[in-house]
Amino acid sequence: MNTLEKLSFDNTYARLPDGFFHRVQPTPFPNPQVVSFNSAAAELIGLDPEEAKRPEFAEYFCGAKLLQGSDPLAMLYAGHQFGHYVPQLGDGRAILLGEIRNAKGETWDLQLKGAGLTRFSRDGDGRAVLRSTIREYLCGEAMYGLGIPTTRSLCMVSGEEIVWRERPEPGAMLLRMTPSHVRFGSFEVFFYRGQFNNLKILADYVIQHDYPHLATVDNPYAQLLHEVAVRTGELIAQWQAVGWSHGVMNTDNMSILGLTLDYGPYGFMEQFNPNFVCNHSDHHGRYSFQNQPDIGYWNIRALAKAMSPLIEETEILAAPDLYEKTMVNTYAGLMRKKLGLIDIHAGDDKLVTDLLNIMDSSRTDYTNFFRSLNQFQQDSPNSNAKIKDQFIHREAFDDWSARYCKRLQAENNQDAERQLRMNRSNPKYILRNHLVQEAIEQATRQNDFAEIDRLLHLFTDPFTEQPDMESYALPPASGSEPIVVSCSS
Ligand code: AMP
Ligand code: MG
Repeated sequence: MNTLEKLSFDNTYARLPDGFFHRVQPTPFPNPQVVSFNSAAAELIGLDPEEAKRPEFAEYFCGAKLLQGSDPLAMLYAGHQFGHYVPQLGDGRAILLGEIRNAKGETWDLQLKGAGLTRFSRDGDGRAVLRSTIREYLCGEAMYGLGIPTTRSLCMVSGEEIVWRERPEPGAMLLRMTPSHVRFGSFEVFFYRGQFNNLKILADYVIQHDYPHLATVDNPYAQLLHEVAVRTGELIAQWQAVGWSHGVMNTDNMSILGLTLDYGPYGFMEQFNPNFVCNHSDHHGRYSFQNQPDIGYWNIRALAKAMSPLIEETEILAAPDLYEKTMVNTYAGLMRKKLGLIDIHAGDDKLVTDLLNIMDSSRTDYTNFFRSLNQFQQDSPNSNAKIKDQFIHREAFDDWSARYCKRLQAENNQDAERQLRMNRSNPKYILRNHLVQEAIEQATRQNDFAEIDRLLHLFTDPFTEQPDMESYALPPASGSEPIVVSCSS
């Protein structure tokens, strides 16, 4: 395990041509203090967790001191925002401090979000508020705990910095990590500028850096596009299966690694509602829960178009279909697991759709229902009352549960084993908005960060019952004000 000074950097992105990024130093806050530190992420980069106790730690991760060997830069990209192409975005408030190579030879980008102005800040202030930083920090780790590909969170640092949104708020910086921050929009910017040579350099870079097994195949660029389509299809199926929505599925927020990137507005659905829109600024519901799979398709088409100068037309056309097939199959497999089913039977998809329809009409809590279904007993329907109580339309649930029971019997599915399996497929705890909100309020009002750490710990294992955390599995108290999440962050 290394000290901060001994981290080993290998800044591959900084070696790309000038037009790919802009070198810029972070702008620090006065009096930085660590809000939270995640030792699991520190391990990934070979950093000794004890290092977080040193006073220099906050200085390094608020940009006051530069880690030796880092080469800070803001990456260039463009993107389709809510369906409209914006020719230049880029890191307007996030600065890539550098890339760390760990002892296993893996590389991790260290990116500091909220680190000040860059050439790409446009009208923004280069800052992030503590509120949104806490939301991103916790959700990255909560998704990881659920087994969903995501950026990881190393730490959050705040300081004496007031940031103006609708009102003055404390600012903060988030250090997040992923093997690569390249986005669909990183390709789009060169395509729409007609800089096809840069497009090729970027594709070669991504292959060498993140898809090395493609370096020697025929048609590597087509293979790259197809792998991204597959990974994105798997990702969005996983989001759907846990009831999670990305609030801003613009192409600049789509990772070339197929992982969850850029947590602005997001939400775990509580009461099942296919029209759930987690982003208050998304007035037309473009990124509603049920639209997300189609938006994934749209985004893969946008990436395919951006890569078209490098790839044969038939391969371009195949990418969205590959995405769709993967999304549909992965989702079906995940839902089958959520129901505790083992084999594939005709009619399984309909069993799922019909269940979701009755959940929709009863606004059943998505997570708690599936967790409670673990208790379903095939030979004593009366003992399923607690499950049934989650539905307003009781006969509809009776019909469905009779079909479910038959389906279980058809494969000789045993309750006890099914329960164990389902406990690993249906989380007990999800990052509900009111839980994050409580952590945000304690942090912003009382400078008390204990709740953040409690949640961080809880979500490392959301599948295991934690008896003293029972209240964290409950939906918000009835009658409580809904929490509004928007693009303001
Ligand atoms: P997002 O919707 O958060 O993914 O951001 C879209 C674009 O706006 C990216 O280029 C961001 O870097 C930029 N951006 C968002 N907030 C700010 C800010 N406060 N200051 C500068 N740029 C920002
Ligand atoms: Mg973004």
